[in-house]
Amino acid sequence: MPVLFIGHGSPMNAIENNEFTRSWRDISKKIPKPEAILAISAHYEREDSSVTSNKKLKTIHDFYGFPQELYDQKYDCSGSKELVTKVKDLVKKVNFDSKWGVDHGVWSVLSKMYPDADIPVVELSINRKLSMQQHYDLAKKLYKLREEGILIFCTGNVVHNLVLARMPGTPYKWAIRFDEKVKKYVTARDDMKLVNYELLGEDALLSVNSAEHYIPLIYSLGATNKNETASFFCEEIVYASVSMRCILFEASKE
Ligand code: ZN
Repeated sequence: MPVLFIGHGSPMNAIENNEFTRSWRDISKKIPKPEAILAISAHYEREDSSVTSNKKLKTIHDFYGFPQELYDQKYDCSGSKELVTKVKDLVKKVNFDSKWGVDHGVWSVLSKMYPDADIPVVELSINRKLSMQQHYDLAKKLYKLREEGILIFCTGNVVHNLVLARMPGTPYKWAIRFDEKVKKYVTARDDMKLVNYELLGEDALLSVNSAEHYIPLIYSLGATNKNETASFFCEEIVYASVSMRCILFEASKE
């Protein structure tokens, strides 16, 4: 299975039909249909490594001040005990979380990719106690899942600074520069530059900000190898400081 990094942006994408949501739909048709999905989302942060362990996952409306229509949305997917066990076997120190479900970083996109919600989903938390290097190393352990038909679905945003967001907004120069730099390093598979993003200067610090939206990118790198092809889509910056960049990592077809 390939690995996806999705820039999910605003929760409103869940009820909109726009160039991003159409790209998400199209990519789902391009890749093999997964047996199950392991999601690493910016919106599931914990002080430990947890996996959602429920049979049915509830739809979490983890946002404020949006139209009622968005709160009425449901994505009724099931969990997967089988995948939970596999993740536990690979990662070892993992707790089971029966309270969390699917957050909007996951369902706002999956509802476009797989509207029937017929693929089981498990979320793996972002453990805030881990360093970037540890996230990268943890992601390497997930690689094996791909051989078993599991889609590793990483959802965040390469550039994500809501403090400086504005609407309508011409993208900040630093946001454009950092977004391009990430593309360059992903293409060159200079993973360590991206893991150690703090060394990339002021543009990186403004773009990554609180880091939870950037960390899923590190998972997508860790879960792929350097011979795989990265293709980019949704290369746009919205609200001046949120990059919608998405990346499909897949084994070269040669
Ligand atoms: Zn988000």
